[in-house]
Amino acid sequence: MIRVLIAVGLLAGNCAYARAAGPSKEKYVRVAISNDIHELNFSIRGKYKILDLRSGAVLEEGRSLRESRLSTHPGGIKINNEEYPLRKIRVTSTRDITLYQADRAQRYRGALDIIQKPNKKFLVVNTIELEQYIRGVLYHEVSHRWPMEAMKAQAVAARTYALYQMKKNKNNEYDVTGDIYSQVYGGKNSERFRTNIAVKRSLGEILVYDHKILPAYFHASCGGHTESARNIWGENLPPLSGAPCPFCALAPHANWKKNFRSKDIQDKLNANGYTLGPIHDIHVVSRNQSGRINNLVLTARDGKTTTIPGIKFRAIIGPNIIKSNKYEIIMKGYYFDLVGKGWGHGVGMCQWGAHQMAEDRHKYDEILAFYYPGAQITDYREQPPVDLP
Ligand SMILES: [Zn+2]
Repeated sequence: MIRVLIAVGLLAGNCAYARAAGPSKEKYVRVAISNDIHELNFSIRGKYKILDLRSGAVLEEGRSLRESRLSTHPGGIKINNEEYPLRKIRVTSTRDITLYQADRAQRYRGALDIIQKPNKKFLVVNTIELEQYIRGVLYHEVSHRWPMEAMKAQAVAARTYALYQMKKNKNNEYDVTGDIYSQVYGGKNSERFRTNIAVKRSLGEILVYDHKILPAYFHASCGGHTESARNIWGENLPPLSGAPCPFCALAPHANWKKNFRSKDIQDKLNANGYTLGPIHDIHVVSRNQSGRINNLVLTARDGKTTTIPGIKFRAIIGPNIIKSNKYEIIMKGYYFDLVGKGWGHGVGMCQWGAHQMAEDRHKYDEILAFYYPGAQITDYREQPPVDLP
């Protein structure tokens, strides 16, 4: 198979050019870092400004703000003793802003947008330059001790995924969340020397297919064959159609086994809209080309059968309890075992496969070509895809 993948080598001179060409080349991602909170303790290092988010008017400015408190007052937002008759304000700093939540101090670069919702609770959004955001994400997706080429491949995938979400959510209050539902983001605390190098060495690079941003999904390990995006989300994209992966056989969770009590599973399914009697048997009716389960049939002790899609079964029981949708079932009376392969949904790049490919001296563009066949690497600052937000 011919891989149409063009790696855009980036020289220091190109970066200088991008910066000189103006701020329009920079992309800002809006990360929801806290939601539905009544108040927030924070402090600011460096010169700061508090602005009206809508008009950009400066409400207050100064140098460093310690032990500050965001709260609500009948007419809007209150910071320390200052009351603002507004629902949306922005806090900026030349250094960083620290949020104190649940005994943790988390530092953020960029701007903090505070949005008061109709229920008076706050949504806190960190608006940050895309490359800075990727620096705060990478450490949570791969270890900073991983081979450089695997980290670079992950940086390209994470950057692409973020841009895809920015396009999809441009009319919403934020693009991504800072938790596992998007990509875990830890702000400045999560930056590490080697992950920052991986971001710098892949600066601006994203994956496109047919000149459009690819939803570059990834997962921990695929168990020997990646999944088609069509089987899970109905997306028909050739780079995400699934293929054999010989690189993750030695990964953690490559093989897993978990024991369940049939009654617990019956209860959990019934709490999610099913009406099952005591379970006598569970068996796989059909699998797709990647070996993952299309449908399961559960037979109750009274002989009644219920068909459940494998994806739905995993979602209800818990995606971290049933690590993947690729397993065998061994019934043991009132209990049963699931013996499975891989961890995650299986679509796109297999992270532990990428790790092995890098150990085997494959370059990051070869890793990306393997897991997203037919996709191209492009620099969003030099050759913007047609659907760039
Ligand atoms: Zn794999």
